Amino acid sequence: MSKTLFEKIAAREIPAQIVFEDDLVLAIRDINPQAPTHVLIFPKQAPPRISEATPEHHKLLGHLLLKAAEVAAKLGLNHGYRLVINNGPDGGETVPHLHCHILGGRNMAWPPG
Ligand code: AMP
Repeated sequence: MSKTLFEKIAAREIPAQIVFEDDLVLAIRDINPQAPTHVLIFPKQAPPRISEATPEHHKLLGHLLLKAAEVAAKLGLNHGYRLVINNGPDGGETVPHLHCHILGGRNMAWPPG
C-alpha cells in the first residue's frame, strides 16, 4: 500500500513545519491556514477517517485529543480554540488519513460553514 500524505510527512519524505512529535502523533502547521493558528495533529499510523476507527484505536484516539489540547496550550491559544475532524465528502475531508485540525487566534463562527 502506498503511503498517505501524512505518512510521508512523518517519514520526512515531504517537508512540513513540525510543532510537536512523540512516538504516536505528529503536529504540523497547515499549508493553507484558515486561522492565525492552524495546526494538524494526526496519529503516525491511523485509519483513513474517524468513521473507520475501531475499538483497537481507543487509546490512540484519547492520546490524540490530549496531545491536541497540549499543543494548543503550547501555541498560546489561551483564549480558546476549535478542534475539527472532517469525515468523508460531506465533512470536507481531503486527506484520507485521520487528523484533527487545531484552529485558533480568532473568534470562530457557529454554525461552521
Ligand atoms: P481535511 O480537508 O480535513 O482532510 O484536511 C486536510 C488539510 O491538510 C487541509 O487543511 C490542507 O490545507 C492540509 N494540507 C494538505 N497538504 C498539506 C501539506 N503538505 N502540509 C501541511 N498541510 C497540508
